[in-house]
Amino acid sequence: MERSRRYPKLCSKDKCTACAACYNVCPHKAIDMQEDKFGELFPVVDVNLCVECGLCERICPELGGRGLYRHEPSKIYYAWLKDASCRKQSTSGGVAYAISKAIIRKGGHVWGAAYDQDMELRYVEANALPELKGIQKSKYVQSAVGDAFAVIKKELQAGDLVLFTGTGCHVKGLRSFLGRDYGNLLTLDLVCHGVPGAGVFRKYRKWVESRYGDKMTCYIPRPKRAGDGQELGYYALAKFKHRDDIKLEKRDNSFFVGFQHNLFLRSACFDCQANGKERYSDFTVADFWGLGKLEQFKPYKERTRGISMLALNSERARVFFEEFSSELVYEERTYAEASLTNTQYYRSACPSSRRETFRHDFAEKSWDELADSYMKYTTKEYILYYIKKFTPPICYYMLNYWRNG
Ligand SMILES: Cc1cc2nc3c(=O)[nH]c(=O)nc-3n(C[C@H](O)[C@H](O)[C@H](O)COP(=O)(O)OP(=O)(O)OC[C@H]3O[C@@H](n4cnc5c(N)ncnc54)[C@H](O)[C@@H]3O)c2cc1C
Ligand code: SF4
Ligand code: SF4
Ligand code: SF4
Repeated sequence: MERSRRYPKLCSKDKCTACAACYNVCPHKAIDMQEDKFGELFPVVDVNLCVECGLCERICPELGGRGLYRHEPSKIYYAWLKDASCRKQSTSGGVAYAISKAIIRKGGHVWGAAYDQDMELRYVEANALPELKGIQKSKYVQSAVGDAFAVIKKELQAGDLVLFTGTGCHVKGLRSFLGRDYGNLLTLDLVCHGVPGAGVFRKYRKWVESRYGDKMTCYIPRPKRAGDGQELGYYALAKFKHRDDIKLEKRDNSFFVGFQHNLFLRSACFDCQANGKERYSDFTVADFWGLGKLEQFKPYKERTRGISMLALNSERARVFFEEFSSELVYEERTYAEASLTNTQYYRSACPSSRRETFRHDFAEKSWDELADSYMKYTTKEYILYYIKKFTPPICYYMLNYWRNG
């Protein structure tokens, strides 16, 4: 009599983070990571190739995983790169870059999220300083893991030094995939608001490309101003193959508005299992928005240039800090201050009340229609936008203080 088959039961779609640990671990290549209509990646098992070994179930971090534990941060700093031009290339103070640079200097491999030539985001490896440029800056879209974990494992087994930088859920996925601690691995995660599926960004990018008649080569959601710091209004910057950069404002900036309003984040992001004070990573980096709210911090101009929050979570991170601290201006602060106006450090984002109807409409409607229906700033946001645009920075900070407390 033929035995009934037991196909693997991976975690449910609302818990899956697309970490691809299951895909990387399957010895029979029976798992493929496939996009749904939002471009969100999920594993699909080919039952003809699967031998029911159960490895993928044991490794899935959202089903418990292997060898996972969290670190309690013992040191928290505000920090920024002394090198002003590198700092400008990063989203906040450039701490992720400082750590990456130290790894490269020691002959190690740095993994991080970078766009490819088609503006699709994936984890790539950098082995030389110029290769770090693509990894710098926040990209507000899901990064595809691909075969990265399997390659990292080989590098670790060969005794190479490896730094993996990415979302907390992907650090967790990597650690579960490895299943044991490697003394030559360092991990860095971001305080993370959540990620949209690649399909949402793709649809927006194509809309921008047809509007401006050129291929987009770079999208910067929070650019720093050409002069001394961050632009105070809401706009993103697009770079193109042939034409000059375009400042994407108002309706042109609809993707960023939808991102800010939690309209199209992945389901797992609303119950994030990687955030919290204790982390799966060695380092945690973020924007230090709460700086100065509990303890004095006077140099206002530095805020406009971007200031990182750096948490040293593990003993390994505390030791490695010596390798790059000379590149930074830094000072020790507290978790209370670091998390004060950065709720995603310890709590998941709340979905937009219109998320479900957006998901219903997404495939049927054009980006124009979606932007008109779903991606507009509220009146309060508009008032703040115009006040910010026409007031000097000091008033902006007073307003921010009034708004955030
Ligand atoms: C989707 C997303 C949401 C975020 N939400 C918050 C938040 O709510 N609060 C907060 O304080 N900070 C948030 N950040 C982090 C913050 O914007 C900065 O990325 C962080 O402070 C690092 O800045 P940096 O100047 O040190 O490094 P940068 O030089 O800007 O380096 C960027 C680093 O982020 C990684 N990265 C960029 N985009 C992605 C991506 N899509 N997936 C995986 N890894 C990526 C790169 O691998 C690189 O290591 C978020 C970042 C992302 C990507
Ligand atoms: S049960 Fe084993 S063979 Fe089947 S998909 Fe999972 S890892 Fe692959
Ligand atoms: S291992 Fe990762 S990608 Fe696979 S089902 Fe679990 S969370 Fe999803
Ligand atoms: S919010 Fe959590 S689940 Fe979503 S991408 Fe960030 S770390 Fe992963």
